[in-house]
Amino acid sequence: MTRVFLGLGSNLGDRCGNLRAAIDLLRRSAVDVDRVSSFYETEPVGPVADQPAFLNCTLSARYGGSAEALLTVTKGVEEQLGRERTVAKGPRTIDLDILYYGDAVIDDPPALSVPHPSIPERRFVLVPMNEIEPGWSHPALGRTQRELLESTADTSGVSLWEGEGE
Ligand code: ADP
Ligand code: MG
Repeated sequence: MTRVFLGLGSNLGDRCGNLRAAIDLLRRSAVDVDRVSSFYETEPVGPVADQPAFLNCTLSARYGGSAEALLTVTKGVEEQLGRERTVAKGPRTIDLDILYYGDAVIDDPPALSVPHPSIPERRFVLVPMNEIEPGWSHPALGRTQRELLESTADTSGVSLWEGEGE
């Protein structure tokens, strides 16, 4: 079993319901989820800034298959939740990113890059990662989640969501 971390986001429809449904579907797909962060409301960052606010969380899990198999699972969950790929980086009912797959460093773009290349510049990933595993070391940068959060250039808004988390 490999320790893995996933990042989840939704900014369309019932955002909280979408995150919960995704976690449920992962559990039913042999992804043994052990910790889920709080849900955070976050400001859109990246090329499409003019879109609704996201609800984001991260989770840790144990998974018995390969990183490629995990990507197939996460894409299947996105599909089951009705994600339509229209605008790249645009609004979505659900987005599932593989943040870390144990200590693996996988460089197979565009299909799969692990650790996810954007982690250091995304407070919406670093804040929830710091909640669940601040000491986790980035295998390529050799820095913990705490260090990455302290040094990120990202200043975008990430606030604890008022509603109930998982
Ligand atoms: P984005 O999240 O960048 O807006 P998508 O979710 O549609 O876009 O992902 C685009 C592609 O990124 C996926 O088809 C997937 O193959 C690839 N990808 C590369 N690395 C990863 C990763 N670590 N986690 C998830 N998808 C990844
Ligand atoms: Mg994605």
